Amino acid sequence: MTDTLFSKIIRREIPADIVYEDDLCLAFRDIDPQAPLHILLIPKQPIVKIADATESNQSVLGHLLLKAGEIAKEQGYADAFRLVINNGEGAGQTVFHLHIHILAGRAFSWPAG
Ligand code: 5GP
Repeated sequence: MTDTLFSKIIRREIPADIVYEDDLCLAFRDIDPQAPLHILLIPKQPIVKIADATESNQSVLGHLLLKAGEIAKEQGYADAFRLVINNGEGAGQTVFHLHIHILAGRAFSWPAG
């Protein structure tokens, strides 16, 4: 996997507004927020996209989902938030290091655009 700007954020080579970190993951505010709350949650282990994940990634993927819920709650949005993973360019993925968008604080339409 080639180095991405998210790897640079993990290594503190690029500044970010970090809201949560542990051994497995890092969460920071999106630079171009699409909602009042817009956090990106990434595994420290570089996985390019969700379709590339394997059984060996199972526990970190579960960890990310648990943390996504906890972070949304801690940020004051327990009742309504949306998690988004864009997989591949055609779905809008622009940074090729797996990330979960945690969005909250506005109305969301369905189906997602
Ligand atoms: P994607 O389009 O790949 O699903 O999401 C990538 C996200 O990364 C976008 O929402 C974009 O605004 C965000 N982003 C791109 N560059 C930076 C950066 O340098 N810092 C932060 N915090 N977010 C970034």
